[in-house]
Amino acid sequence: MSNSKRRKRRNPIGPIIAVLLFIAAMAGIILLISGLARGNSYKDNRAGASSALSATPKDDLSVEPEPEPEPDPHEGMESIIIDNDEFVNGDLMLVNFDYGVPEKYEDADYPSIYGKGTPYVVRATDMYLQPQALDALREMLSAAKEDGVKGMMIVDGYRLNSKQKSMFDRRVKNLVDEGMSKEDATAKVAETVAYPGHSEHQIGLAVDVDLHEIEYEDFAETKFAKWLAENCYKYGYVLRYAADKTDITKIAYESWHFRYVGMGHAEYMQKNNLCLEEYIDKLHNEGVIEFDSEEDRHYTVTYIEKSDGGETECWIPENSEYTVSSDNVSGFVVLSWEK
Ligand SMILES: [Zn+2]
Repeated sequence: MSNSKRRKRRNPIGPIIAVLLFIAAMAGIILLISGLARGNSYKDNRAGASSALSATPKDDLSVEPEPEPEPDPHEGMESIIIDNDEFVNGDLMLVNFDYGVPEKYEDADYPSIYGKGTPYVVRATDMYLQPQALDALREMLSAAKEDGVKGMMIVDGYRLNSKQKSMFDRRVKNLVDEGMSKEDATAKVAETVAYPGHSEHQIGLAVDVDLHEIEYEDFAETKFAKWLAENCYKYGYVLRYAADKTDITKIAYESWHFRYVGMGHAEYMQKNNLCLEEYIDKLHNEGVIEFDSEEDRHYTVTYIEKSDGGETECWIPENSEYTVSSDNVSGFVVLSWEK
């Protein structure tokens, strides 16, 4: 009895260890269960998420994520078809040292610049211009006259190739007669007179102006020249051979030579200080130019390369008015504006 009591007393640590072991075991089980539970709930979430993603499309195909639809490149546009025979026509035709005059202009029938009641005088009665350029010229010079510019004279318009050639050859001959070599004389004359077949005068869109019976030293300094340089774009004309563009045009500054390119084009060229070569280059590079005119007209200028077939398709903003011109280089330029 005492032994057992003693034993019990001598070994009080046994039950404590048992209790501790029990607690440790319970704790282990609790940890294990909670760990499993955490793992399961993690797995459940993932499973739930993935099943939500995969299950929904099976129920309703319309909400399956679809690839972005291809945007329609011609939305809000309309197509126009240009007959490639038009490549010889238009107000924006570039004619210079590199791009010659198409054959059809050799024998064109254009209206006479001379006429009764015009706001200018003419040096000769047998001078001609394309009708749209002539209408614009008369309107422009009427406005100049209203602004007090007097004594305006037209000295040249449309030229036949034969005239351009005889004019060029005569000037070369004059220099040769003065002792210059033919080669030097030809190069010298080409600075101010275009080679035959390469003059804008030959397409009936250029005029030379002067003053009549008024003495002046330098035409560029006259009121007439200054008025035209400043206002010509309002009538579709540009000062074609500007002083700061001679390295591009290859023609000396001509304060008297004006070229009709049409409304819109003229305004853009003037306001951005671009000669015709630069404007056409820009259109080739950019394809489309948009701008607002002084008269609140929103213009879109579209360049399209001429196709190899018989027609060229061009896309322009829908519900537009438009004009088409060849650039005489590689394609067509379409000027459009809202109806
Ligand atoms: Zn000229």
